[in-house]
Amino acid sequence: MAAISTLVLNPSYDCNELVNHHCSSLFVSQKSFSPLTVKRRNHRFQKASGGRSVIPVSASYSFDVVVIGAGIIGLSIARRFLLHSDLSVAVVDASVPCSGATGAGQGYLWMVHKTPGNDVWDLSIRSQKLWQMWADDIQDQGIDPLKVLGWKKTGSLLIGRTTKESDELKKRVQQLSAAGIRAEYLSYGDLHWEEPELAVGTEGSAAFSPDDCQLDAHRTVAFIEEGNRLFASHGRYTEFYHDPAVCFLRSSRKGNVEGVKTKKNSLYGKKAIVVAAGCWTGLLMRELLGESDIIVDVPVQPRKGFLLVLEKFNSLKLNHGLMEADYVNHENFVSASDAFDHDQSLSISMTATIDASGNLLIGSSRQLAGFNIELNKQIVDRIWEHAAQFFPALKELSLASFREQRKVRIGLRPYMPDGKPVIGPIPGMPNVFLATGHEGGGLSMALGTAEMVADMVLEQPLKVDHKPFAVEGRCCR
Ligand SMILES: Cc1cc2nc3c(=O)[nH]c(=O)nc-3n(C[C@H](O)[C@H](O)[C@H](O)COP(=O)(O)OP(=O)(O)OC[C@H]3O[C@@H](n4cnc5c(N)ncnc54)[C@H](O)[C@@H]3O)c2cc1C
Repeated sequence: MAAISTLVLNPSYDCNELVNHHCSSLFVSQKSFSPLTVKRRNHRFQKASGGRSVIPVSASYSFDVVVIGAGIIGLSIARRFLLHSDLSVAVVDASVPCSGATGAGQGYLWMVHKTPGNDVWDLSIRSQKLWQMWADDIQDQGIDPLKVLGWKKTGSLLIGRTTKESDELKKRVQQLSAAGIRAEYLSYGDLHWEEPELAVGTEGSAAFSPDDCQLDAHRTVAFIEEGNRLFASHGRYTEFYHDPAVCFLRSSRKGNVEGVKTKKNSLYGKKAIVVAAGCWTGLLMRELLGESDIIVDVPVQPRKGFLLVLEKFNSLKLNHGLMEADYVNHENFVSASDAFDHDQSLSISMTATIDASGNLLIGSSRQLAGFNIELNKQIVDRIWEHAAQFFPALKELSLASFREQRKVRIGLRPYMPDGKPVIGPIPGMPNVFLATGHEGGGLSMALGTAEMVADMVLEQPLKVDHKPFAVEGRCCR
C-alpha cells in the first residue's frame, strides 16, 4: 500500500468551494494519508516537486457508510457491515486505532461484575456471545484465538475482603445463576485453592464465573483491521487515519447530512454516518453540526484511567482474571461534586491478570480530569500499593524497581453520567448514528453494539432492546 504525500493546501481553503456543499469549517491539510481504495467523486490535483507525479491534494469519495472513530467500537461496526451486508465502508480517525481508550483496555469480557436485569445486561450478554462465537470460529479455521485476539478463557474472580462484601457476593452469585450465568461462591479456603498468591484474610471470598474471558485489545484491533482490509480490494473498505472529521456535508445550510468533511477529504455516506469517537463524541458533534438547528448535546465525558504493565513478570502467578468487589461501586458512581473536583473524583480499584504475552496487567484508576493524558506518578504508585495489599509477592519488589520496570497505558474512558452507552439514530437526522459512552465496558460490549448499529441501518430486527440506549431524551431535547 503506497502512501501518498499530501501537499499543503492553501490556508484559506474553504470546503464549500471544493464540494459545493455546506460545511462550517475551514481547514488546512499537512499530513499524509493512505487510502486503500478510492471512488473519487471530485478532486483537485497539484504537481509534486519535480513535476512527474500528480497527487490529489484533497478528494471527494463516496461510500455507503462512513464511520468516525477507529477505536474498538468504530472498527467493530465497520467489520459488522463488511461481513453482514454488501455495503461499502470508510473508517475515519483523527489518529490511529488504539490511540484512544481502546489502547489502554485491560481486555476483560466479563459478566461477573454486571447486574442481571440492568440496562446494559442484555447487550453485554449478547456481545459476550458474539465474542465467544468469533473465538470459536477462529479456532475452527485452525487459527489460535490466543494468537490473534489474545483470547484467554481465564474465568473471573470478583473478590471481597469483608463480611459485608462476602454477603453481597453470595447474593450476586444467586442472581447470576438465576440469569443463566455459570457462577459459584468461593469461601476463603476455596479461593485460596484457586489463587494461592492472593491474601485477603479469612473473611475474604469471591464470586467466580468460569466462562468469563479476556482478550488483548492491541492484538484484537490489529486482527479486525486485517479482516476489514480484505474488503479493500473489492472496493468496499477504505481507512482515513490521521484525518479528523471536521464538519458534516449537508445538502443545504441546514439540509440533510450527506457526508463528512475531514481535514483532508470529503467523504459521502449514502446510507449512514456513524459517530463512534469515544469520549470526544460530545465535542465532535458540536463541531460537526456547526450552526444546525438540531441541538445534540452528548454528555459523554473523558474518565481517565491508568493500567500498569509489567512485562514478563514472573514473581506473581495468577490462574484467573481478578477484580476487587469495590470496583463495581467505583465504576458506577460519580457524585455531582466529583465532576468539578478532579482529585475528589479519583478512585482506584484492583484488577489483575496475565495477558497473552505473559505480562502482568494491574489496574486501575478512574478520574474525571478533562482530556489530558499526562502521567501522574503518584496515582501509578497508589495503584501498585493498593494491588500489593492483595498480593504480598508485589511487596518484595521495591518501589524503585517497580518504577523502573513498569509501563503505563493511559486511556480516556467514554463516561456517560447515566452509566450506559448511547447507541442509535439522532432524531431529525435519521442517517446519523451515535455509538459511544461504554465507559469501562467498551471492549466487552463492542460486538453487540456493532450488531445493533448495523441492524438499525439495515432495518433488520434488533436482537437486543435498543430503548435504554436511545439518543432521544439523553442527548437531544
Ligand atoms: C485503564 C482502562 C482499562 C479498561 N479495561 C477494560 C476492560 O477490561 N474491558 C472492557 O470492556 N473495557 C475496558 N476499558 C474500556 C474500553 O477501553 C473503552 O470502553 C473502549 O475502548 C471505548 O472504545 P471507543 O471506540 O468508544 O473509544 P476510543 O477507543 O477512545 O476511540 C475513539 C476514537 O475516536 C477518534 N476520534 C476522536 N476525535 C475524532 C475526530 N474528530 N475525527 C475522527 N476520529 C476521532 C480517536 O482518535 C479514537 O481513536 C478500559 C479502559 C481503560 C482506560
